[in-house]
Amino acid sequence: MSDPLARLIGELSRLPSIGPKTATRLAHYLLKVPASEAHALAVAIVDVKEKLFHCSICNAITAVDPCRYCTDEQRDRSRICIVEEPFNIEPIERTGEYHGLYHVLLGALSPHRGIGPDRLAITPLLGRLTGIAEIVLATNPNVEGEATALYLARVLKPRGILVTRLAFGMPVGGDIEYTDEVTLARSLAGRREM
Ligand SMILES: [Zn+2]
Repeated sequence: MSDPLARLIGELSRLPSIGPKTATRLAHYLLKVPASEAHALAVAIVDVKEKLFHCSICNAITAVDPCRYCTDEQRDRSRICIVEEPFNIEPIERTGEYHGLYHVLLGALSPHRGIGPDRLAITPLLGRLTGIAEIVLATNPNVEGEATALYLARVLKPRGILVTRLAFGMPVGGDIEYTDEVTLARSLAGRREM
């Protein structure tokens, strides 16, 4: 694997949804672009790995710790919205319907893939419940997301916290990431107690 082209093809084909054919095409494309363009891509990849990390409180992706959501005093600090992945926060922010805090689980329960509660960031969440009036469960409307929401509701409700779930006009089996803003805003505004 000392051949640089073969090495690039090998690395690219490890990316999700990139097969060997696409990897080969991308590698040859990169061979043709100006050096500055290829360099910018390489630097962008290195930068996200070196400059960004998970917030130590909520697991959002951030360049400063704690993140801007956790430190923003203007936000409603009595609510926490639970999402599966850091990239689920942005669509919820865009709706303008939610102004509370976030907590990223870094996954969802999946018995099939052997992902139990111990693999998710649930213990840190339990350490954040002081002064919290409502937990909004915004896990995805698919089997794993629903199982995760049910599990969390069982854990959180006995602690006297209002637990709500997005009133999904969202397509079942879908993903918050792919839900349009209007539907997501309506799902948030119409959230129901679990
Ligand atoms: Zn944070």
